[in-house]
Amino acid sequence: MPPGAGTPSGSGAPSGSGSTSQQPPSETPDPPTPTPTPTPTKPAVDCKKSKCFALTFDDGPSPDTTPQLLKILKKHKAKATFFQLGTLAKEYPELVKEIHDMGSEVANHSWDHDSLDRKSVDGAYEDMKKANEAIEAGCGCKVTLMRPPYGATDKGVDKATKKLGLAQILWDIDTLDWDTHDPYDIRSKVVHSAGKNRIALMHDIHQTTIDAVDEMIEELYEDDFKLVTVSEMLGDTVPGKRYPKSWASYGN
Ligand SMILES: [Zn+2]
Repeated sequence: MPPGAGTPSGSGAPSGSGSTSQQPPSETPDPPTPTPTPTPTKPAVDCKKSKCFALTFDDGPSPDTTPQLLKILKKHKAKATFFQLGTLAKEYPELVKEIHDMGSEVANHSWDHDSLDRKSVDGAYEDMKKANEAIEAGCGCKVTLMRPPYGATDKGVDKATKKLGLAQILWDIDTLDWDTHDPYDIRSKVVHSAGKNRIALMHDIHQTTIDAVDEMIEELYEDDFKLVTVSEMLGDTVPGKRYPKSWASYGN
């Protein structure tokens, strides 16, 4: 059939032939697309096959900086894991809830950033228990992960976390964002060290860290990384055990 032989018939022909179909450049690049709400418990991606990578943020939540980060994560449909202080979770439960509701993960980072390895097993247990209660009250969820402040863990912390049903999550990439306060440096460290199933450590209480994240995510997406929570990446974790494996004998 020669091209053009058929003519549109009926009244269902596309309308709007007089107007351009191209969208003018807009301030808001993402038109809202209907997406199902994320289900935090079920991983959306298979990290055995996909290039999963976990961004983690410690020491919050902070009303000054954390909401900015959440906006950036939402814009990119990215998830992260937040290791929070019990004191702050108690003060800002609405931030704990917002993080959980957007499909990101909230986790325990002690009550008030004490070195848990300097406490007795019971002391460390009570400290983390109090933090867990504050975080769980905020999110209405069950916390299963913790990160010891300063990465200071030992056999006593292993015991206390096991008793609380918490796995210990350390990291592969330390951005030293609290020291450099340099968005370019923070972004480069993460992007250049990113790898399948690795964990990057940052802090959502520093403006300079927040300033690094937008472009960081864009570059990670260009490298086909999927930004998932630690629980999505690791699957079921064992209470008391340390992840990644490279931390197994640290502090013992
Ligand atoms: Zn910390």
